[in-house]
Amino acid sequence: MSDPTDPPKSHGRLSISASVRPRELMQASPRLKGAWAARIITLFPEAFPGTLGLSLTGKAHEMGLWALETIDLRSFGLGRHRNVDDTPAGGGAGLVLRPDVVAAALDQAAIGAPVDRAAWPLIYLSPRGRRFDQAMARHWAQAQGITLLCGRFEGVDERVLEAYGVEEVSLGDFVLTGGEIAAQAMLDATVRLIPNVLGNEASTQEESFSTGLLEFPQYTRPALWHDHPVPPVLLSGNHGEIAKWRLAQAEAITKARRPDLWAEYEAGKG
Ligand code: SAH
Repeated sequence: MSDPTDPPKSHGRLSISASVRPRELMQASPRLKGAWAARIITLFPEAFPGTLGLSLTGKAHEMGLWALETIDLRSFGLGRHRNVDDTPAGGGAGLVLRPDVVAAALDQAAIGAPVDRAAWPLIYLSPRGRRFDQAMARHWAQAQGITLLCGRFEGVDERVLEAYGVEEVSLGDFVLTGGEIAAQAMLDATVRLIPNVLGNEASTQEESFSTGLLEFPQYTRPALWHDHPVPPVLLSGNHGEIAKWRLAQAEAITKARRPDLWAEYEAGKG
């Protein structure tokens, strides 16, 4: 094992420079120094920050606009082998995460966090949960931080979810192998809504879902690509006409692709 204080290696086959910086930042993230914070309980801390360490979310993380702390579920495991799971009561395939082990990790995550769940949601990533959406991302971004419990195997013993009042949230109607990818997806959607994370704040107000509509189509240079021109109105310089065109496009796309969103939008207009 390399000493974590070793300087990052930048050359050679065993180069670890790509992952060292984000992980150092992650471990150094101070608890509750005011920045929005995510605490992630996982058997695979090495999966973080993952894509959250890149681009705008990564830069914002480096700047301290949000903090990321992983809590290694394995470290609360029992016995010499640090067991975290056991066979399902009642029989059946797979393994279930033990309530005592998960509870110890939840207790660790609760240290210094507000008890009020609106100020600090406590979430278990689960296909049985309420479906994640933009409104949820907005609420989470307005909290002080969040704790996300990533399951593995068959999931988590029901008793600990009940005892701690853990809310279940799903990424969608499919089954992942673990909660880590779901956690990253939800954090990405949330963190970009934290003030100053995106360079241009207006971009979160106009994009899909924020207005109740899917976004209008986007174009860039060249003005003529093969025989496909950019719609002339966008090059007209007439901002009123451009806004009208974009709204009409957004409405048409939403109506065609998402009758559910369209019905809500129509009801909201009335
Ligand atoms: N036996 C469970 C699935 C377990 S999948 C069931 O049928 O409901 C293993 C873990 O992956 C879960 O504990 C959960 O944390 C995560 N996971 C799987 N699908 C997910 C989804 N759609 N959204 C969020 N997390 C999910």
